[in-house]
Amino acid sequence: MAGAGLLYKNQVMLLTQTFFIKDNKDELLLGAHKYDFDILFFDQMRDFVVAVESSEGNNLFVIDLDVLYNMQDDMQHNRRQTMFLSDLLQRLPLDQNYIYLQTVRQGERFLLQQKLVDSNCLAYAEKPITNDVLVDKLFNIFAQHSRGESNTVVYLGDQASLDTQLLADNQVELLQYQDARTLHVRVKEAQPDIVVIEEAQYLQTEALVRVLKKNIEFDPGREIILLQSRLDPALARRALDSGFDEILPANDIDVLTRQLLNRINKIRASKDLISRDRATGLLNKVGLQKKAQEWIRRASRENKPLAYGIIDIDKFKNINDTWGHYFGDIVIKRLSLVLSAQLGERDLLSRFGGEEFVVVFWDSTLEQGKQKLDAMREAFGRVVFEVKPGENKNFSFSGGVADYPNCKTENEMFLQADAMLYQAKQGGRNQICISGK
Ligand code: GH3
Ligand code: MG
Ligand code: MG
Repeated sequence: MAGAGLLYKNQVMLLTQTFFIKDNKDELLLGAHKYDFDILFFDQMRDFVVAVESSEGNNLFVIDLDVLYNMQDDMQHNRRQTMFLSDLLQRLPLDQNYIYLQTVRQGERFLLQQKLVDSNCLAYAEKPITNDVLVDKLFNIFAQHSRGESNTVVYLGDQASLDTQLLADNQVELLQYQDARTLHVRVKEAQPDIVVIEEAQYLQTEALVRVLKKNIEFDPGREIILLQSRLDPALARRALDSGFDEILPANDIDVLTRQLLNRINKIRASKDLISRDRATGLLNKVGLQKKAQEWIRRASRENKPLAYGIIDIDKFKNINDTWGHYFGDIVIKRLSLVLSAQLGERDLLSRFGGEEFVVVFWDSTLEQGKQKLDAMREAFGRVVFEVKPGENKNFSFSGGVADYPNCKTENEMFLQADAMLYQAKQGGRNQICISGK
């Protein structure tokens, strides 16, 4: 176990009886490692509690409730004793939340289940559950916790009847605006997830939502909400027909704010599904393209250069063919960690395709981009992979770099960087190329 915590960003502590998962333990661990977390196994309640109490950082605690029926209570070393659910729950530290792996017996008894969900329960899962599903769900919970991005609500009206503090606590920025006739310009700049429009504004300018939505660049995931002070079915029907997604009552600030937060959480979840790679948590191709376009707009406003690098692992087919696809996946994951570790705060990193990554360095010239990519290449070259017990290997990647403002669009940068990547491969691999060098 030594050092494992350093390699993986997050940890799961799992209380279970090894004899239940002995066969699957390695597979479960490999799955977890792919998703950048580690699993520490505990088969004694006492050890588990100590680990929970001393745990720091972003960890998850999972309890397989089969321990109730099969674990010998560690207070009584010699005798096997059945532990009751309430004993177990009582012994868990209160300042954490737990994921329970519930047995069939448990799930069929509603009162027991209710007791469980009311006992610091983050989530429960029903057994049998496959390793793949468990790992994927745990990863989703980590991803939910670590999402640092903020969301924006644009509010058109005189007085935002919303709890701005509660919004801010949930990383939601509220932009208030009063001019219906330039709302579409504001929306284009701010790229909000939700646009809230007061009834009075709608009544004055009924075409406003059509103007917003007919824009070819309008984000179809964005929601447009009408606030009504009193339900007027005829008006509501007209509003829905003109493109509003939803009509909410304006009366209660607390309720309305919570409704918006719930909607934002849904929007966040679907955005992640669309724009992130599940195995590495990095931006995928779609996510990168959207962000890169935004970065280009920012760079042009702030008059900064951008460097755009493409990375492709060398002879990756060999790696797969020699040591298996599963090992290949681990190489990809380790590379994603090496790259992440060297990233600046405003740099973008994407898993663009299978073993291809794109990095966008903020405020970097072509030469600086090459230097940074070279540093990443060297760092990856130093990673030692134990392909078989006692047999170590190193791998390499090649890269090409292009830059803004020499290239004007994301697509132009991609094509130029890809041409440079081709040159790096032709030139013998394990190198970074830029044009003219
Ligand atoms: P080169 O040095 O020219 O890049 O040689 P290469 O063998 O790496 O060639 P190429 O980049 O064209 O091949 C990529 C291979 O990566 C093809 C595909 O089988 C494999 N691959 C793509 N995605 C994944 C993945 O997610 N996991 C694994 N294990 N393999 C993948
Ligand atoms: Mg490739
Ligand atoms: Mg390759």
